[in-house]
Amino acid sequence: MIEIALTGGIGSGKSTVADGFVDRGALLIDADRIVRELQEPGRPVFEAMVQRWGAAIVAEDGTLDRGAVAERVFNDADELKALGEIVHPALYNEIERRRGLNSGSDAVVILDLPLLVGADGTSIADQFGEIAGIVVVDADPEITVERLVANRGFDEADARARIANQASRQDRIAVADRVIDNSGDLAALERNIDRAWEWITTLPHK
Ligand code: ADP
Repeated sequence: MIEIALTGGIGSGKSTVADGFVDRGALLIDADRIVRELQEPGRPVFEAMVQRWGAAIVAEDGTLDRGAVAERVFNDADELKALGEIVHPALYNEIERRRGLNSGSDAVVILDLPLLVGADGTSIADQFGEIAGIVVVDADPEITVERLVANRGFDEADARARIANQASRQDRIAVADRVIDNSGDLAALERNIDRAWEWITTLPHK
């Protein structure tokens, strides 16, 4: 298996690139999706979160109210740390379990890790040992804001705040083995995905 870590800031186009790699034959391990699964009602992560923040983070239908959680952790370092302490061990366990399922195969496995580089600029890549390469999707923040507003329903101030609250462009690029530029149109992105995919297939298997 060839293992790649994929990251990028909100709105950079990381999910679009992940989909592009899947179209080219990769298997995807999507950290955000795993977190959503771990937070389904009744699961231990959900229960631990409700224990900490109370029924106010549960929506009427019994599922997690993500907005209510975001309100509690956005701009509050202690609460954000508490959330990480609840979610991360379970997340890393599940990622390791899924990696184990493919080890020794010919698969290209993409670990989609939005928070590979934290807001303080530190990388958690070491947690995952022996990854063949780190791919960073990069786009001009002004273009990113435009896309978040036009395509994902963000209001502009919110998009800017979310970007400001994440790792900087430079911090991500500093850990990259390969940068995929997504400042152009979708056709240009497809060409960049092709080139990155060609490079990935030359990397060592493990
Ligand atoms: P991320 O996963 O990094 O948050 P997405 O892949 O969801 O970002 O991209 C953000 C939005 O911008 C999506 O609606 C996506 O379809 C759109 N998008 C991504 N790349 C481009 C591009 N090169 N040109 C136009 N729209 C794009």
